[in-house]
Amino acid sequence: MKEKILLASPHMSKEGYEQEFVNEAFKTNWIAPLGPNVDNFEKELATLVGINHAAALVSGTSAIHLALKAAGVKDGDIVLCQSLTFSASANPIMYERAIPVFIDSDMDSWNMSPKHLEEALIKYPNAKAVVVVHLYGLPAKMDELVSICKKYNVALIEDAAESLGTTYKGKYTGTFGDYGIFSFNGNKIITTSGGGMLVSNYEERVQKVRFWATQARDKARHYQHSDIGFNYRMSNVVAGIGRGQLKVLNERVLKKREIYFMYKEAFKDIKEIEMMPLNDFGFSNCWLSSMTIKGAITPIDVIVALENENIEARPLWKPMHLQPFYEKFDYIGTDVSEKLFNTGLCLPSDTKMTKEQQQRVIDVIRGLFK
Ligand SMILES: *Cc1c(COP(=O)(O)O)cnc(C)c1O
Repeated sequence: MKEKILLASPHMSKEGYEQEFVNEAFKTNWIAPLGPNVDNFEKELATLVGINHAAALVSGTSAIHLALKAAGVKDGDIVLCQSLTFSASANPIMYERAIPVFIDSDMDSWNMSPKHLEEALIKYPNAKAVVVVHLYGLPAKMDELVSICKKYNVALIEDAAESLGTTYKGKYTGTFGDYGIFSFNGNKIITTSGGGMLVSNYEERVQKVRFWATQARDKARHYQHSDIGFNYRMSNVVAGIGRGQLKVLNERVLKKREIYFMYKEAFKDIKEIEMMPLNDFGFSNCWLSSMTIKGAITPIDVIVALENENIEARPLWKPMHLQPFYEKFDYIGTDVSEKLFNTGLCLPSDTKMTKEQQQRVIDVIRGLFK
């Protein structure tokens, strides 16, 4: 069996920064709960992306959940959500018993179509929140999306789980909306083994998020609760890994982009292949190099051919409006997200992958299009 090539996997710094912060937590016996690594991880990430406040949580999913709560989403409210995404963008809408309405993507950004968002807001003028995703690290069309959300007075939540390090017109994704969320799951551009962050410029809302995330304990000597709580706070050990990983974020982004451009160059003469769109309005972290193909060879053919060589690849996210669980909800758009799903796939984009290993991936794919 040939050496396995992964889609994306955890990549700790060669300097051992993560270990140092974790050791510090052990030495001071500050394992949990909270502690200086958590406070500093929040501050360091907020400074890096240019936002005032951040709350470190156990996952990106929990961050979306509390962002919805912070935006005031309640039982029966409408939440407009990008359809082409991972299910974790939408599931927290259900946790709050709100009603998702799915929105199509644009072919040139792969993310939420401003036109269809406006259509949805005309149909659902009382929608409480909009969840926009920056898929695979590609920035969504934020100028248009932000101004539509302002016009209809609806809260904007950016699911930047895949796009830490991506900018749109020079500003970091995750900082355009009322709330932004990041994920540090094992396959993301940086990882804490598992974790997430909610960011916002609303100080009092972020404090509320920290309150909800630590079981909603009122200030009292006994255990007093005037609200429902969650056990969603990041631990001081995990935050130590995050602080170390933040130091190499830039390095990881550059490597991800190098991987993307090596694929782009390698496939430029194959007319059936089109790499995911990098637009002039943004700088993508290229989290997963993805492509669409047309003609007789299908994404599944490519995935199977790679699998036979012990190389991991995946279809694009299956749109939420086509998921058995979500198909009963409304969908605004045409067939763009469905087309992307039917024609697209994600290629190995592991930052530990060598050029030689990437060449193996390229050779298999080029072999199919001979
Ligand atoms: C990974 C991911 C999430 C969820 O993050 P977790 O930390 O795994 O909970 C949410 N949305 C998108 C688009 C993701 O890729």
